Amino acid sequence: MGRLESKKTIVVTGGLGFIGSHFIEMCLKNGHKIYNIDKETYAANTYLEFDGDYTHIKEDISEVTDIPKCDIVVNFAAESHVDNSIDESFSFISSNVIGVYNILEILKNKRIQASLRGQPYHYPLYVQISTDEVFGDILEGFFKEDAVHTPSNPYSATKSGAEQLVVAWARTYDIPYLITRTTNNYGKRQHHEKLIPRAITSLIKGEKVPVHGNGEYVRNWIHVEDNVEALYTIVDKGEENNSYHIAADEEYSVKEIVEIIAEIFNVKYEDIADHSSDRSGCDLRYALNCEKTEALGWSQKRHLKTTLEEIKKYYEEKIGG
Ligand code: NAD
Repeated sequence: MGRLESKKTIVVTGGLGFIGSHFIEMCLKNGHKIYNIDKETYAANTYLEFDGDYTHIKEDISEVTDIPKCDIVVNFAAESHVDNSIDESFSFISSNVIGVYNILEILKNKRIQASLRGQPYHYPLYVQISTDEVFGDILEGFFKEDAVHTPSNPYSATKSGAEQLVVAWARTYDIPYLITRTTNNYGKRQHHEKLIPRAITSLIKGEKVPVHGNGEYVRNWIHVEDNVEALYTIVDKGEENNSYHIAADEEYSVKEIVEIIAEIFNVKYEDIADHSSDRSGCDLRYALNCEKTEALGWSQKRHLKTTLEEIKKYYEEKIGG
């Protein structure tokens, strides 16, 4: 029987963000109780209203002193934009590393306090949402779950550090965990600093699209709803103290993505791409092997080229409204 077959109380962090908000919607639709701890940074979709058994807690995970009693904690909260981490990295250390440390310590201390009172205490399952970027780049082939981390920018270093804390706290204090690593997500509600919404919103406004360097960097692209279905499957059926990869069968370079988007706007790449910006630490290609997640019964359902039109409409309405 899966963990999510009966109603569970789930603490989600960063649930006003792009991926966390879709995950909350799926959990509420399936009848679970949600507490969402979100600091409401610039990336939060603060206008969102969720239907169901939902409580919002406006707190910073690096400062919060307690979390509600629950069965599962799913940590999405993070500073998530690589370019920002290159300009300023302390907020990444604070949210992505100290935030994870703080939550793990709260869980550990709850058990110590229960034991002092002579009461039983069962740790909730701690789920860390991580990224393909912890491995750095791979020119051919795909990283499996046990590959060595070689992060190449401040963002990926903080995500890798967070994973190490989770594994160490599990070994030392028995806190059960799952780690998921996902490739680049796309879909509605993504902040316009990220490539796909940035390209779409720039073209809606009649502006050029900034493309780092020559745009040859290759990424794997997954629809956020496919990602969230995979996350739900892993939380439901994943084996405790394991990591799982989530990826789609879609690899495109940054240039190819902008070309595809230019096509739906009926403009030419050469006319709209702005190559004047560059970025240090850009990995050439990320790629994950996700057979372990597929073995749990998940599979990709959505494709970039057939969902972009709908995503474009979403941003047109957002900008228009
Ligand atoms: P996002 O930037 O859209 O949202 C992050 C959310 O976390 C925001 O609502 C923000 O207010 C909140 N937050 C940030 N710091 C916080 C703190 N200290 N305390 C409480 N709340 C805080 O991020 P996203 O794109 O939805 O990514 C979610 C998670 O998935 C992140 O951990 C990210 O590293 C990981 N991830 C994202 C992608 C992707 O393509 N977007 C790919 C792989 C992994």
